[in-house]
Amino acid sequence: MEFTRSNPITGAVASAAPAMQPAEMPALAARAAAAQPAWGALGPNARRAVLVKAAAALEARAEAFVAAMMGEVGATRGWALFNLGLAASMVREAAALTTQITGEVIPSDKPGCLAMALREPVGVILGIAPWNAPIILGVRAIAVPLACGNAVILKASELCPRTHALIVEAFAEAGFPEGVVQVVTNAPADAAEVVGALIDAPEVRRINFTGSTAVGRIIATRAAQHLKPCLLELGGKAPLIVLDDADLDEAVKAAAFGAFMNQGQICMSTERIIVVDAVADAFAERFAAKVATLAVGDPREGTTPLGAVVDAKTVAHCEALIADALAKGATLRNGGPTTANVLMPAHVIDGVTAAMRLYREESFGPVVAIIRARDQAHAITLANDSDYGLSAAVFTRDTARGLTVARQIRSGICHVNGPTVHDEAQMPFGGVGASGYGRFGGKAGIDSFTELRWITVETQPGHFPI
Ligand code: NAD
Repeated sequence: MEFTRSNPITGAVASAAPAMQPAEMPALAARAAAAQPAWGALGPNARRAVLVKAAAALEARAEAFVAAMMGEVGATRGWALFNLGLAASMVREAAALTTQITGEVIPSDKPGCLAMALREPVGVILGIAPWNAPIILGVRAIAVPLACGNAVILKASELCPRTHALIVEAFAEAGFPEGVVQVVTNAPADAAEVVGALIDAPEVRRINFTGSTAVGRIIATRAAQHLKPCLLELGGKAPLIVLDDADLDEAVKAAAFGAFMNQGQICMSTERIIVVDAVADAFAERFAAKVATLAVGDPREGTTPLGAVVDAKTVAHCEALIADALAKGATLRNGGPTTANVLMPAHVIDGVTAAMRLYREESFGPVVAIIRARDQAHAITLANDSDYGLSAAVFTRDTARGLTVARQIRSGICHVNGPTVHDEAQMPFGGVGASGYGRFGGKAGIDSFTELRWITVETQPGHFPI
């Protein structure tokens, strides 16, 4: 049985993939568990060599990835190639980590006792990835887990099964032993049961999930019943603060990139521009002028910075948020009608207040709110007035002031004089609150995907009280 994914612009079939069933999951998990010990026992340089090959095998598929992402999610060529570049660097970083999975010797109070903290593979790790940055997030779900000696199962998004399957094809070519890297594809209607069966499989020891907060809650609840740890990378509502001494041109460039790259469909997308009154009008005018240059168009023609959003549901959701804000007194600075079902222009909504849905709800589309603050303290209060806490940014010419503000923002990530959208393989990536918990990236990833054990060796005769 197969299911299909349609191109969001043309409606034509973009890809077909196996509609795997919940009943198939136990055998898949068993295959992973059988394959893991040999992979985990390989030396770090042997694991590294396979990962390095996987990075090259990903890059060799550049044109196939571009075609798959354009067809399945309406991405631009630029976004697809950026995805591939960062994903390949994530695999190379994971390869570099294999000799960094270190432990420590801890002083023991017991005479003659050598006490060690050692890191060992967890076993089988389930990674669940979304469609919006599909190569980056699919690779992120499996690369460091593999480097740590685990077997992985990648649960593909129903919206980009071909893109996610290409990742696993590249890894297979690199020479991972049979069963160490597997992919699961499923029809949308089967998602809950397929994921549930994978979480329930006794061989699956940990889960990492990137996706919406609503589904993250379902997954964490199911995993908790088995006492299985989760790493959750969920939604966001990133604030970008513009202070009175900011370089407005820099703030405008970063805000436009952060709000509209990939049509605002990035978990770190700038959703709220919080600008202090002293510079609010000047900023809003320059920002609107910049955004007016960001045209939307068919990604297959490749002539515009904005491509399609993933589906008509996204357009309806964004339009509802915009209509609600305008009805409650906000001003439309940039916007326009959606064409071809999913070609939605960049929208800037000024004067957004707490009474409006756009103030709190993630748009995950090409819509950004400008929220006006009285001063720095008010801007920080507004930035923290959100359940989410993934990324944030603050613009000021005074770097020390920027650092002081950054440290008062409740988020996993904050950039001073940089955009909210910024990811690198070696950085600790993750959020707080409704944006989830746990960290991908660099050494933080080693903590997430290994078991830390305490092992002792006695070197003297024992003395016991009884
Ligand atoms: P989603 O939560 O709808 O889907 C993600 C995955 O969950 C899919 O693979 C799907 O099969 C599975 N799923 C759906 N319903 C399920 C159910 N009832 N039980 C178990 N599994 C189920 O997310 P999406 O629409 O693909 O992605 C968009 C969201 O992801 C946004 O909220 C965005 O902010 C977030 N996101 C977060 C990050 C991050 O790093 N924090 C990165 C990218 C996207």
